[in-house]
Amino acid sequence: MLIRRAEIEGHLRDVRIAAGRIEAIAEHIAPRAGEAAIDAAGGALFPGLHDHHIHLLALAAALGSVACGPPVVLDRAALANALRVAAGDFLRGVGYHESVAGALDRVGLDALIADRPARIQHRSGALWMLNSRAIDRLGLDRGADAPGVERDAAGRATGRLFRLDTWLRARLAPGAPPDLAPVGRLLARAGVTGVTDATADTDSSALALLEAAVVSGALPQRLTLMGPVALPTPAHREIARAHVKLVLDERALPTFEAFCAAIVDAHAQDRGVAIHCVGRAELALAAGALAEAGPRADDRLEHAAVAPPELVELVAKTGAAVVTQPNFIEERGDDYLREVEPRDLPWLYRGRAWLEAGVRLAGGSDAPFGAADPWRAIRAAVSRLTRAGVPLGEGERLAPERALALFLGPLDDPGGAPRRVALGAPADICLLDRSWRSAREELSSAHVRATWRAGRLVHEA
Ligand SMILES: [Zn+2]
Repeated sequence: MLIRRAEIEGHLRDVRIAAGRIEAIAEHIAPRAGEAAIDAAGGALFPGLHDHHIHLLALAAALGSVACGPPVVLDRAALANALRVAAGDFLRGVGYHESVAGALDRVGLDALIADRPARIQHRSGALWMLNSRAIDRLGLDRGADAPGVERDAAGRATGRLFRLDTWLRARLAPGAPPDLAPVGRLLARAGVTGVTDATADTDSSALALLEAAVVSGALPQRLTLMGPVALPTPAHREIARAHVKLVLDERALPTFEAFCAAIVDAHAQDRGVAIHCVGRAELALAAGALAEAGPRADDRLEHAAVAPPELVELVAKTGAAVVTQPNFIEERGDDYLREVEPRDLPWLYRGRAWLEAGVRLAGGSDAPFGAADPWRAIRAAVSRLTRAGVPLGEGERLAPERALALFLGPLDDPGGAPRRVALGAPADICLLDRSWRSAREELSSAHVRATWRAGRLVHEA
C-alpha cells in the first residue's frame, strides 16, 4: 500500500509498504494498479512507539478492575463506595495508595467490604491486600502458603501478600485467562508497535498466554520478555526472551555479594540483567554491584527513580541503560511533593541529567502502575508538571523530540539510536493527524491517526 504526502523527518514523502517493510520512499510514487493508498495530508510519520517497560497481563486484568486510588478514589468513603457498587464475586481492586485509607490489612479491608472476597493491589504493584473472605477462599489460614505471605505472631495471614502476582493469578483464575485483546488495541491506538514486558515472575503459564495472544493477533505488538533466570525460551520466533529481571526491595535488600553473584549468574547464561531499583539505596546497590560484577552492554536499570548526582555518575560508568517513567511526575508528583524527603525531590525520574552524563535513556509506562499511554509520559518529560500543575525537577525537562525518542529505541537497545522510517525497515509505523511542528505543541495520543505493525494496519482513528 501507499501512504502519500507524509511528513518524514521534516520532508513530505510518499511511502510504499510491501511484505511488512518499507519498500520505497520518494517525493512522488506512482500507485500500482489496484494499490490501496491513504493521504496523510502532511501528517507526521514516525516509527511505532516502543514501551520499554510494561506488564501486559497485569494491565489486562487491571482493565476489568475497580480503581481504588488517586485520581479516581481519594478517601476511605469513596473507596468503600467503589467496592460496594462494583460487580463480581471476587473483587479485584487496583491502584491503592495509603493516602486513601492508610496501610490496609485484612481487618482494615473487612471494615470496607466484608460480604464478598476482595483483593486490592497497591499501586506499586508489589503488594496485594486481601480481606478475610479472600483469605478464606485461598486457604491462607489452612495451610496454603508462599514466601511473601505476611503472617502475624500467631501465624495468621495478615492479608498482605508481597510480590505474589503470578502465584495469585494461578490460584484465583486458572480457567479465566485475562483477555489481552483490549490491551493490544489500547496500545495500537497510542501508536505502540513494540513492548518489553518487565514482569519479574513470568512463568511458563504466563508465557503461554502471551504467546497465544501474539499468534492470534490479539496482541499486535512486537514482544520482548524479561523474567526470572528460569523463564523458558518462547516457542514463537517473534517473541524474544531477554533480560533476567532482578528486583531490589528496600524492605529486604540482599547482601552485596549475593547480588553480585546473581548478576554474574545471569551473564554466565548470556543474558543481561534488568534491575528494578526505585529508592536511593536500591540504585546505589544496583550500580555498585554492576560495577563490581562487570557490566554487559545490554544491562539496564528499571526506574532509577531517585538519582542524586553521585549515583548518576556511577551509573554512567557502568554503561547501563536507564528505563524511566516520566509519567509518574504527572501521575504521582503531588504525592511525591508531600512524601518524598525534600533533599531527594530534585533527583526524581531525571531526564536531562541522565543524557548529559552520557547514559542511554529510554521510556516505559510501567502500566498498569502508570497510564499505558506513552504520550502522557512524553508530555510529562517535556513539561515536568504534576497533575496539580506544580513543576517538579524543571532542570530535567526534555525537548519534545528528545522525549519522543525515549520511545523510539529498539527493543533490544532501549535508549540506543532511535529507529527511523527508512528503506528496508520493518513497517512498524505511526501516522499523526498533523505535522510534527503542530503535534510537538500538543503531545497527545489523540493525534495518532493510524498505526501499522509489520505492514498490517492495526489501528485507524
Ligand atoms: Zn514495572
